[in-house]
Amino acid sequence: MPNPNEKKKESPTDTVNYFFDGAAEQLGLSEEICQTLIKPYREIIVEVPLRRNDGHLDLYTGYRVQHNGSRGPYKGGIRFHSTADLEDIRALAALMTWKTALADIPFGGAKGGVTCNALDLETNELERLTRIFTRKISLILGPQRDIPAPDMGTDAQVMAWMMDEYGKRYGHTPEIVTGKPIELGGSIGRNEATGHGTSIIIAEATIDFNLSFDKVVIHGFGNVGSHAALYLTQMGAKIIAISDYYGGIYNPNGLPIQQLFQYAVERRPLKDYRDADQISNQEILELECDILIPAAIGGVITEENANRIQASAIFEAANYPTTMSGEQVLADRGIPVFPDILVNAGGVIVSYFEWVQNIQQFKWDINRVNKEMKEMLVKAYKNVFEIHKNKGVSLRTAAFMVGVQRVAKATELRGYLT
Ligand code: GLU
Repeated sequence: MPNPNEKKKESPTDTVNYFFDGAAEQLGLSEEICQTLIKPYREIIVEVPLRRNDGHLDLYTGYRVQHNGSRGPYKGGIRFHSTADLEDIRALAALMTWKTALADIPFGGAKGGVTCNALDLETNELERLTRIFTRKISLILGPQRDIPAPDMGTDAQVMAWMMDEYGKRYGHTPEIVTGKPIELGGSIGRNEATGHGTSIIIAEATIDFNLSFDKVVIHGFGNVGSHAALYLTQMGAKIIAISDYYGGIYNPNGLPIQQLFQYAVERRPLKDYRDADQISNQEILELECDILIPAAIGGVITEENANRIQASAIFEAANYPTTMSGEQVLADRGIPVFPDILVNAGGVIVSYFEWVQNIQQFKWDINRVNKEMKEMLVKAYKNVFEIHKNKGVSLRTAAFMVGVQRVAKATELRGYLT
């Protein structure tokens, strides 16, 4: 018997739609347009059979969700992760729609993935899995239709295999994926772009919100967290705690990020580092600090732990780290939350530059990539900050208002509602 007192678990889509509703209400959008904007355009589910090296067959499930394409081709990462199910991918696809619109790049939103643990797979198994999955979703991809990129559990090598597999059927098409190795048409600056962008948003916000970065805590030390740590250290920040899948390390005097960055590159567990205290992934979120950066999986700041968070501000480098009830608790406590669609937009912005470079068959240098990324991020930040200040809404609602309004306008102009 279901327990009537037990609260229904909030799904990722509940959270993203709750954020959308907050913005739609402020914008005064009609029920009709809200329904169109919330629903994904297309979702495909594919079977991904993988013959493992020991001879047995594993049957995985893969997804690609195209949420909204009214502003341009669908765009978003591919996630190989145990949590990547349809519900999760659907919410992440919607977030991409609002993120590309907020950044004002000419893309829609999509996300894809395979429910698996990429860390359990040998390299050749990962390659076979990538190629099978790519073949099965290639029907709905295209450089003017849908352009994947890396996300959790995938990287530049996976993008190289995707490009190669797609090319077998459709001819050499580097602009079919972004986040490729530089040798195959990847953009300089793309690998570090999400973490770099996070540091740019933090630098802007510290001025407007009078924040200090003497005590920074980063939950997650993969591509995003490790690069954010590196750039923040260069800006003079002191990182006092970081964590990975296995747990975290803490030193109130600051951690040697240059040295620890190598752990992320070599995928060595941080717990092997001996010159700091060990700390759990739960504890790290609750440390007293100036800035907390969740940079791992979604849904880590909830109603349950939001009351114990002791950060002056939260910068969401991960996608949807805060659930809707976690958000409500933080709002009541007056802790500003800089939303994912702003904080981690550097990645998709440089993906856009990569796509442009591939189409033009022309390479930009690092100065141009970084300069243009910074301009776009700062513009988005200022837009959000102005709305937050003038309308008295949360930073999240302000960010969604910018994105949702642009998508609503494009939908109307295209005549989708007539
Ligand atoms: N996976 C990244 C994100 O969540 C990047 C997506 C892209 O570059 O298309 O924003």
